[in-house]
Amino acid sequence: MKDIFQIVESGSWSIENLEQLLALRGDEQKKLLTLAGDCLLKSRGNEVYYRGLVEFSNICTKDCFYCGIRKSNKNAERYDLPDDAILDAATFAYEHHYGSLVMQSGERDDPVFVDRIDQLLRKIKEKTNGRLGITLSLGEQTPETYRRWFKSGAHRYLLRIETSDEELYRQLHPDNEKHRFRKRLDCLKAIQDAGYQTGTGVMIGLPGQTFKHLAGDLLFLKDFDVDMVGMGPYIEHEDTPLYSRRLELWTPLERFLTTLNMVALLRLMMPDINIAATTAMQAIDPMGREKAIQAGANVIMPNITPSNLRRNYLLYQNKPCTDEGAEDCSNCLSIRLEMIGRRPGFDKWGDSPHFFNRTRE
Ligand code: SAM
Ligand code: SF4
Repeated sequence: MKDIFQIVESGSWSIENLEQLLALRGDEQKKLLTLAGDCLLKSRGNEVYYRGLVEFSNICTKDCFYCGIRKSNKNAERYDLPDDAILDAATFAYEHHYGSLVMQSGERDDPVFVDRIDQLLRKIKEKTNGRLGITLSLGEQTPETYRRWFKSGAHRYLLRIETSDEELYRQLHPDNEKHRFRKRLDCLKAIQDAGYQTGTGVMIGLPGQTFKHLAGDLLFLKDFDVDMVGMGPYIEHEDTPLYSRRLELWTPLERFLTTLNMVALLRLMMPDINIAATTAMQAIDPMGREKAIQAGANVIMPNITPSNLRRNYLLYQNKPCTDEGAEDCSNCLSIRLEMIGRRPGFDKWGDSPHFFNRTRE
């Protein structure tokens, strides 16, 4: 086993070294996580940026095998928040000094939806005096749509690659034009080309996934020059096709510990990007997001979806905070951050310096 410090110091990010580091547990893992936490404090300080998350609709035209709100899940109770409620959520984020908003939903690309988002972006910008940053997470769209939404005020876009291994991707999606790995990659490129701060990420602990796949994912993120990353453990949902492979899964604890190592390694590989502490981590460990922050994450996405609808955006089972109001989440988060020596970067967009470094070149 090679020395952790030596690998990190020399930046020898080979597949073999990454595989070894992903497998670390116990005291050796602690060393890795501390190293990454220190790297974040040194490069970015102790601020954690808030993005108020509005999951405004669970209507989806796709059928990803892992997702609880996939089109074919007849048990999902569908909802679509009215524009007023989305604008209220944006105002809530602005008034609570969150700095940014993330608009997320199931995937639709019809003209009515595209126009509606365009209008909403303009209204949110107007209502918040252009001060609230807007991130979109609305799946695969045409290059023209990405450009249009960018012009209307969105400046960050999140589209997870889910896995960078084409073969594994194929096992997780139906075999049709709506679910092609190549299309996902093309969309990510189009997002970057449209001028967005570009975010992607993967799920960790998928059936059939190995440390080698995950090591490849880390190298993919670095090669793609991403500005922001959201990674989380895969969590099974009984109304999805992937549930039939649940006996192949690592234990939730294994998925969680591996996710921590993924966050830590990525922080060491890319000190100037933004990394989110994701809700799925909290679903496995009540202190999951705090642990991710201590391992190098610097963004948190408090859920500000109206709480009566939140329980219907069930991507996986035991999704946390589905019964709390946005206000509860806001208070409980600040206290949780203080407990680990971090402070909220209130009223700041908290942009990724990586974006400016990469676009200046
Ligand atoms: N529809 C858009 C898309 O797919 O990009 C945005 C919303 S989608 C629900 C956001 C992310 O949820 C996906 O990229 C996926 O990584 C994650 N997700 C879906 N099902 C999940 C599961 N069972 N466990 C963990 N994460 C899941
Ligand atoms: Fe739809 Fe996104 Fe879920 Fe896939 S992951 S089914 S695109 S909401």
